[in-house]
Amino acid sequence: MIVFTPSCSAPPDATYDKIHISGGECIGNLMYLVIRCPNCGTFTYVDQYQEWKLCAICGETINAKRAQTYLDLHNHRDAEAVVRELERFLHRTGKSDLSEEEKASLQTAYAQWIRANAL
Ligand SMILES: [Zn+2]
Repeated sequence: MIVFTPSCSAPPDATYDKIHISGGECIGNLMYLVIRCPNCGTFTYVDQYQEWKLCAICGETINAKRAQTYLDLHNHRDAEAVVRELERFLHRTGKSDLSEEEKASLQTAYAQWIRANAL
């Protein structure tokens, strides 16, 4: 069972990171994807337009478009919290990966948290 505890200290208006185009006009909500390094299994995250991410642990260049997405969320603080939570979960349970059920429950937990914290 995954208990999802996002960054509660974040101010309410930080629930969504906004996409800004040059000039500062807001055009929507930026999404972040929680992915996993295919080489060493470390969790990390990218924004939705980011194609490559260098793994901080093993130096692998992760192709974000091909890596498996565990969760998409609206805020980089949440993405960091989820990455930490996933590492803790696997460490605690001794598992090497999440089951499909656990991935689904993670998404459900995040959706509920977003609704509960909606402005
Ligand atoms: Zn790695």
